[in-house]
Amino acid sequence: MNGINPNRSFRRPLRPLTPEDYIAGILQRDRMILSRAITLIESTLPEHRALAEIVLEKCLPHAGKSLRIGITGTPGVGKSTFIETFGARCAMGENRLAVLAIDPSSRVSGGSILGDKTRMPHLSVHPNVFIRPSPAGDSLGGVARKTRETIVLCEAAGFNRILVETVGVGQSETAVREMTDFFLLLLLPGAGDDLQGIKRGIVEAADLVAVNKADGDREKAARQAQQFYKTALHYFPPKNSGWIPQVTTCSALSGMGLDTILEFILNYKTMTESNGFFEKQRGEQSAYWFKETIIETLHQRFYNHPSIQNHYQQIENQIVMGKVSPFAGAEDLLKAFFK
Ligand code: GDP
Repeated sequence: MNGINPNRSFRRPLRPLTPEDYIAGILQRDRMILSRAITLIESTLPEHRALAEIVLEKCLPHAGKSLRIGITGTPGVGKSTFIETFGARCAMGENRLAVLAIDPSSRVSGGSILGDKTRMPHLSVHPNVFIRPSPAGDSLGGVARKTRETIVLCEAAGFNRILVETVGVGQSETAVREMTDFFLLLLLPGAGDDLQGIKRGIVEAADLVAVNKADGDREKAARQAQQFYKTALHYFPPKNSGWIPQVTTCSALSGMGLDTILEFILNYKTMTESNGFFEKQRGEQSAYWFKETIIETLHQRFYNHPSIQNHYQQIENQIVMGKVSPFAGAEDLLKAFFK
C-alpha cells in the first residue's frame, strides 16, 4: 500500500483541560483524564509542568491510601510474567491496581520495559487495573520523580494497590525502594552460590525474596536456593520495621506460591501499621525525596550554567595535567556558579 488513505480519519486534537477538569476527572476515576494528567507530569514543557504542579497539589490530600509494592529482579527472572499473574490477585474484588515502572534506560529507546499489552496481555485489559509504562527521562532522578508523582495521581484516582517494577541491574532499585512500602526481590533457582549479580544492598533491602520458576525440574533447585537465601538473610542486621524478611518459592507461570506472597505482604502491612513503621517510613521517604530533589536540581543547574559549560573542560584539562589541584579547580567553578 502506498500514498495516503483518503478514508483515514485523523485524530482530532484533544480539548485542553483546565486544572479543575483534571482534578474532577481524576477524583471521578476517569482513566482517560488520569492518563492525560500523567502525560502532563512527564512533559518537559514549562506550561505543562506548571499545570501538573496545581493538579498534584490538589490530588495530594486524596493520596497516600494505597499499599505500594516494589518489585525488582534481573531481566529474564520473570517479572512481567509475575506481574501478569500476581497483579490479577492484587486486583481481586474491590481492589484496584496500578502498575508503574522505573527504567531509566527507556530514554534510549523512547520505549520502556513495559511494552505492556504484549508483556501482560490479561492484566492490560483487566477492568480494575491501570498500567503505565516507565517515563522517559535524562536522569534517574527525573524518571523517579515522575513515577513518584504518578503514584499520587493514581492513589487520588482510587487505586489502592500500586506495583512499581524495576530492572535489577542499576541504581533504580534504590529509587523504587524509596517510594514503596514493601520490597519484593525475584531471584532464579540454582544460582544460589552468589547473589545473581544483584547488589548486596538490594538483597538486604528486600522484605521478601521469592525464588521464581519453581516448577518442573527446577523445583528442587528452587528449594535449595530458598535455603541458601534464608541463611544469607539471617546474617543481615534486623530491620527497623520489626519485620523478619521471608524467603519463598513461586512459579509466576503456574501461579504456585503467589497467594502466599500476597498474604506475606498483607501481613507486613498489618504489622507495620500497628507498630507505626508504615507511616514512619513514608515520612522518611518524603524526606529522602526532598533531599534528592535539591541535589538533582542543583546538579542540573550547575552543569547547565553557561559559565560552567564554558570553563569546565578547560579546568578539567589543567587538573589532568597536574597544573591545578582538583580542589582548587572545583572551588573556582563553584565560585563562578554562586557569583
Ligand atoms: P522479565 O524479563 O523479568 O520481565 O522476565 P519475563 O517475565 O519476560 O520472563 C522471562 C522468561 O521466563 C519467559 O520466557 C517466561 O515465560 C519465563 N518464565 C517466567 N516466569 C516463569 C516461571 O515461573 N516458570 C517458568 N518455567 N518460566 C517462567
